[in-house]
Amino acid sequence: MNRFLMSNLTWKEYQEKIKMGILIIPIGSIEQHGPHLPLGVDSEIAENFALIIAEKVGGVVAPTLTYGYKSQPNSGGGPIFPGTIDLNGSTLIDLCKDILTEFLADGWQRILIMNAHYENEAFLAEAVDLLLRNQTTPFPKVVLANWWDNISASTMTKLYDEVEFRSWALEHAALAETSLMMYFCPELVGSEPIDEDFIPPTYQTFPVPKTAVPASGCLYTAKSSSAEKGRLIVEDVVRNFEVILGKEFA
Ligand code: ZN
Ligand code: MN
Repeated sequence: MNRFLMSNLTWKEYQEKIKMGILIIPIGSIEQHGPHLPLGVDSEIAENFALIIAEKVGGVVAPTLTYGYKSQPNSGGGPIFPGTIDLNGSTLIDLCKDILTEFLADGWQRILIMNAHYENEAFLAEAVDLLLRNQTTPFPKVVLANWWDNISASTMTKLYDEVEFRSWALEHAALAETSLMMYFCPELVGSEPIDEDFIPPTYQTFPVPKTAVPASGCLYTAKSSSAEKGRLIVEDVVRNFEVILGKEFA
């Protein structure tokens, strides 16, 4: 039983953590991740990072938000595939605002939003900005971060030793996410080798054409993924988050 999950705490246990603790809100999506990974990859990764960081810093992990903003063809495969269940931008902004409003009313001063779905970022930033833009005190404070932006350059070199890194948009269901899933929940990773090499268009068309992305749903190769690379990412990202939270929430 995990003692860092808010849903496992009584209200009294939860209340005791508020004053000095850090609340971590994991946000993912439910979205196709190719033939080798489950639909919940982004949510699974967000929650696993949140739980490890919570253990390091004495935090509380809020229930994971398992729906996200619309998957885009050039960063998630888009709406073409079954199992990609998306929110409108305004819904995600309102949802995030409502949840944050409640946590702030409970008295949280330090909140980390751990995002793991590429397309969410601007809408999460909008929700936080609409809530805090008129605040004149430094606290309560919200840190909004994507795990992939917090991998050190030296770790990137070790990860992309066999294939070159293209972009985080194309990394959907590719080496980084596959390696993280092999590390966090290997029982959910299929063995089918994925080796796409998709050159995305430099523009978008609407309605989204059925042929916009490879039929596998992957945008780039997952070759050379491993649980060991997953471990490298986790240790590096968690270390970097400890530094960030120490600095921002001091
Ligand atoms: Zn993903
Ligand atoms: Mn995603």
